[in-house]
Amino acid sequence: MSEQRDNVLLLRTIPYSDSSLIIHCLTQSHGRISLMVRGARRTKSPFRAGLMPLHQLQIRWKTPRTGSMGTLLEVQRLQPLVDERKMLAGQSLLSNANVLFPDGVEHGYAELHQAFTILSQQEETLGLPSAIWNMLSSAGLVGDFIHCWHCASEVSLDEHMYWLSANSLCSKCASGRGLELNSGYRKSMLNLLEGKHITLSQNYLSIWQHIIDESIASHH
Ligand SMILES: [Zn+2]
Repeated sequence: MSEQRDNVLLLRTIPYSDSSLIIHCLTQSHGRISLMVRGARRTKSPFRAGLMPLHQLQIRWKTPRTGSMGTLLEVQRLQPLVDERKMLAGQSLLSNANVLFPDGVEHGYAELHQAFTILSQQEETLGLPSAIWNMLSSAGLVGDFIHCWHCASEVSLDEHMYWLSANSLCSKCASGRGLELNSGYRKSMLNLLEGKHITLSQNYLSIWQHIIDESIASHH
């Protein structure tokens, strides 16, 4: 047996047996791990106060010589990841990260941490989709609104692109199918993703949300 220590972000907790929990976390330098937390649901468990969602945590755990699941030994709660007004949005980031960075991946901590930073810097209306988009983009799952995902050609900003099967395509590849991402939409999105302060119309915002939902669903 050996002991490890790392900073982690808690993705989810699952009740196990009468009093225990299994936790899934993204660690700063050990990828995604799941751990058994014995007795965590007992009233007097020392883990109860520490295992707070939406906080950065520092943990110490024991890795088994065989098998995959280690055991949590100690948890220390560090700073909160979002302020209380944005807790629901924060939960949404966690559940998306849970899908985007599944068991076996070596990354995800930095991406999710960055997403929380984006969420806390902006109003939630734009901050939440921007944060999720950033995770999708760093996971390599979304294009850039400039190049056709299919043929890789650059599409002039004065032309439309088309959203089809969870990718943005040029008019040639889409050949009349898909949801139109018009020139105005593409320009707004590019400005937004470059960090310019713009407001997005309700219509553009719903298109973006649709694109995000389909990108995540296609990854399931
Ligand atoms: Zn194309």
